[in-house]
Amino acid sequence: MMGLPFIHHPGYTIELPAAHPFPMRKFTALREQLCPLAAGAAIDWLQPEPVDRDALRRVHTRDYIEAFFGGRVDRIAQRRSGFQWSEELVSRVRLETAGTLLTVEAALAEGLALNTAGGTHHAHADTASGYCLINDIAVAAAHALARGWVRRVLVVDLDVHQGDGTAALFQDVPEVFTFSMHAGTNFPARKQHGDLDVALPKGMADDTYLDALAARLPELLEQFRPDVVIYDAGVDVHERDRLGHLALTDAGIRQRDEYVIRACRSAGVPVAAVIGGGYDRDIEALAARHALLHQAAINHWNQAGG
Ligand SMILES: [Zn+2]
Repeated sequence: MMGLPFIHHPGYTIELPAAHPFPMRKFTALREQLCPLAAGAAIDWLQPEPVDRDALRRVHTRDYIEAFFGGRVDRIAQRRSGFQWSEELVSRVRLETAGTLLTVEAALAEGLALNTAGGTHHAHADTASGYCLINDIAVAAAHALARGWVRRVLVVDLDVHQGDGTAALFQDVPEVFTFSMHAGTNFPARKQHGDLDVALPKGMADDTYLDALAARLPELLEQFRPDVVIYDAGVDVHERDRLGHLALTDAGIRQRDEYVIRACRSAGVPVAAVIGGGYDRDIEALAARHALLHQAAINHWNQAGG
């Protein structure tokens, strides 16, 4: 019997200038924190190969992909992306995107799978934005549809920011339902129309947040009947996050992740989860927050008997 698939690549982390605001080391820190956690469970560690251009072409324009691969990204576009262009950056983005693709593939085989990165939901067809260069969620959804692995994909995006890129990319694609629940006052300033957008008031805490989620998710699963859920488990909803406007605690995030996994799995729907955003300067605390997702998955896996 297979174990619970965890997807990771050391290349998720690259060197950035010390003052860079993006917490790049969190992926490595998460991997390290998962070692003792995973000791009590059967985990299958899977490592992705860099994604090829063809898979990206399903959601991004040819010009955009070629400019990104070839280093022809102008200064304004680089600033908008949040990263200075480099070969290493291209490599990390290709690995992270491939990781989410592999997560979806493994989830379809095993019912549940988790990336240790992913959730670059602000990337549009021809634009990078907010630390997102390629939209891994959209690439994975489009790939699974194109390969005939699934007929319907539900994106459950609980990052504190709206999944605007994903919403725009699938605006006219009925096979993909985009559900985003986010802080209404937060980035991006210009929201896109997803299939279901829930804008939460600033400062919302655990109980009301979990109620808002429970008021939507079961109905979506029942009405849309997805063949897979791609879950963005952003922890920037946390009360101590630098970029979030909500006030969830660790316990609230744990309950949220357990709830999503349980709701989907009890409806018979595979779950492919990505970690999403999280912007605490304390990398170890941040990695521990992301690990709540993997802990929730391990608990579910052990209870369900694999
Ligand atoms: Zn975010």
